[in-house]
Amino acid sequence: LDVVRGVEPRIAEAIGAELADQRESLKLIASENYASPAVLLTMGNWFSDKYAEGTIGRRFYAGCRNVDTVESLGAEHARELFGARHAYLQPHSGIDANLVAFWAVLSQRVESPALERAGVRQVGELTEEDWAVLRRDLGGQRMLGMSLDAGGHLTHGFRPNISGKMFEQRSYGTDPETGLLDYDAVRAAAREFRPLILIAGYSAYPRKVNFRIMREIADEVGATLMVDMAHFAGLVAGKVFTGDFDPVPHAQIVTTTTHKSLRGPRGGMVLCDDDLAPHVDRGCPMVLGGPLPHVMAAKAVALAEARQPAFADYAQRVVDNARALGEGLMRRGARLVTGGTDNHLVLLDVTGYGLTGRQAEAALLDAGIVTNRNSVPRDPNGAWYTSGIRLGTPALTTRGLDTAGMDQVADLIHTVLDSTSPGTTRDGKPSKANYVLADGVAERVAGRSAEL
Ligand code: PLP
Repeated sequence: LDVVRGVEPRIAEAIGAELADQRESLKLIASENYASPAVLLTMGNWFSDKYAEGTIGRRFYAGCRNVDTVESLGAEHARELFGARHAYLQPHSGIDANLVAFWAVLSQRVESPALERAGVRQVGELTEEDWAVLRRDLGGQRMLGMSLDAGGHLTHGFRPNISGKMFEQRSYGTDPETGLLDYDAVRAAAREFRPLILIAGYSAYPRKVNFRIMREIADEVGATLMVDMAHFAGLVAGKVFTGDFDPVPHAQIVTTTTHKSLRGPRGGMVLCDDDLAPHVDRGCPMVLGGPLPHVMAAKAVALAEARQPAFADYAQRVVDNARALGEGLMRRGARLVTGGTDNHLVLLDVTGYGLTGRQAEAALLDAGIVTNRNSVPRDPNGAWYTSGIRLGTPALTTRGLDTAGMDQVADLIHTVLDSTSPGTTRDGKPSKANYVLADGVAERVAGRSAEL
């Protein structure tokens, strides 16, 4: 840090403060983790200075042999780890990976047939008329994905995201009674809507998804099954999700982030079958520019780590810990969406404590417990205030907490929420944001969490 301090001391200070925050707080954000020193160090090197647009062995720049080595090794680790035919490591983030995947499917299913019809090989050779028709067709396709309040992600066709502007979207939700995915309802929606892409995967659904059934549904309506495993990639890598619950053998295309349960650097990745591979490899120049070779190197290191037996043990502990956290909360009277978990996350409905998600999130942060507020299905408080808190175990599991430790964490969360009451606005009306945490609780809880 001394080198950085010599140039911009305030940045050096922020880096130091971030390390302290991450060490001292209880990190329960389900999408965060602690990458290993090997992964972190691999990101800080001279690869950062290199341009390498193109694909392995076919670059638009000279001098890319070391980037080729890095990208091929990363892709090899990804293929071996996930049993995939093809891996593309260039996306800078999960959103980028999804954009690459959407355009790969559009390229395969809409653009290529149009080129064939017109008897040409490249878009540039299309007549103006053909090009106008193709542009219209590319823009008018349909996507069916999980609704946001059931746990889906913004990139699955929702209006604030480009996916919702590119595609006509419809959502499938969860059963109102159980909170679980209702495959018959997904099938009925798919039959009626006939999407080009059926997308499975989530950010806040605390259960496994049966991808064999999702593929059957996709096949029945002629859709491509895309799975966004950003959240649970580590559980697939660690062989906790196998058979029907492993997306790779079932989906034609799978996207992921590399920084969540997979515990790699911040980034994205696409896995696909042979038919889609050439379309995926057009991610650059379609939606990407130069790759980040230093991050691809770190992805290769993280994937190599995930191939070691210790990672399978880690992934199993992540799930055991989430179950212990959920059971600990329920034993203390809390209500969980779906009544439990079988992955790395727990969705706690905080209305039982008389709070909104926003109040709960802020009170927990006061006590050093970092979470994020999250909608629950059919949320009465909307997407900003919400009624839930999402809790995930990947980070604390990396720090070595076991199931007994997670029961303690459940106790700390319950103690804070039980000691918090909703506040009022300045003119005395009930507030969805303000809250009152009883005196001394934050300090006591922070003291106890430091011992974990
Ligand atoms: N897909 C899912 C399911 C996610 O949960 C997220 C991030 O939270 C993303 C995609 C986007 O990832 P990124 O933030 O790296 O763009």
